[in-house]
Amino acid sequence: MNIDLEIFSPVHQLNNKLFDERDLFVYTKRDDLIHPIISGNKWRKLKYLLKEAQRQHKNHLVTFGGAYSNHLLATAAAAARFGFKATGIVRGEEVNNDTLFMCRLHGMKLIFTDRESYRDKQMLFNNYFGDDDQAFFIDEGGTSPEAVKGCSELVDELSEHYDHIFCACGTGATAAGIISGLTNHQLNAVFHGVPVLKNGGFMVDEIDKLLPAPASYQIHTDYHFGGYGKTTDELIGFVKQFVAETGILIEPVYTGKMFYALYDLAAKNYFKPGSRILAIHTGGLWGLLGMKDKF
Ligand SMILES: *Cc1c(COP(=O)(O)O)cnc(C)c1O
Repeated sequence: MNIDLEIFSPVHQLNNKLFDERDLFVYTKRDDLIHPIISGNKWRKLKYLLKEAQRQHKNHLVTFGGAYSNHLLATAAAAARFGFKATGIVRGEEVNNDTLFMCRLHGMKLIFTDRESYRDKQMLFNNYFGDDDQAFFIDEGGTSPEAVKGCSELVDELSEHYDHIFCACGTGATAAGIISGLTNHQLNAVFHGVPVLKNGGFMVDEIDKLLPAPASYQIHTDYHFGGYGKTTDELIGFVKQFVAETGILIEPVYTGKMFYALYDLAAKNYFKPGSRILAIHTGGLWGLLGMKDKF
């Protein structure tokens, strides 16, 4: 089977008073539309991993994540779509939620593990699947050189010039991919990463480790809203207003923080008038279901 999805990720302009007043041209690349479940950057990160598994004749994907992991769900759906078995090793005690329900619905087997053993993923893999010569290890979040390569292809799809490109960062693999794509095409757009975790300064080390060649970029560490999965009333208010004004769904874990950063920087006159800014909508909308009580 040829492992590929037809990429549908159009660029849409965002119009509002703030951007008009600052003379900014702001767009979003709709990676959330690539697939309803294998959404956005998660498909880009998985594509070459699945091809590698196929090349090695391995038909069982084994990966890792928290109970709300978009990566687990994307892997479950991609496995089902392309004929693999899948196991998800989940951090923490057994729970049920919408994400894990969707993983199971796609046929993924789930193994819950305590936080201590979760630290050593290779050991977990060996313990459970050391004897399974069909098992293929995929790291948490899909982080790998294959993921970086897959994400770099986003830049191949750009047909216009942008001065700035914004993206939310968790592991930094998507950021590394986009930055290396910009380098490959010798584009001078400035990449801006918005870490969604607290103390996001470490993101620079993560990205630099994954980059094939050194490059410069910006990281904005002040938009974590208390840490991974944490929100504030202000962030929730922003997400509500954004969705109601644009008709584009975003969520508070990743894309909400990234768009908030972009709007906040625009309000603070961070960008030169006339700038063209592209925000990557990395998907992850199933995460909204885990946050209903926050709205
Ligand atoms: C996983 C995820 C990210 C972060 O991607 P990394 O490559 O881990 O930095 C960003 N946005 C969404 C919606 C995600 O699900």
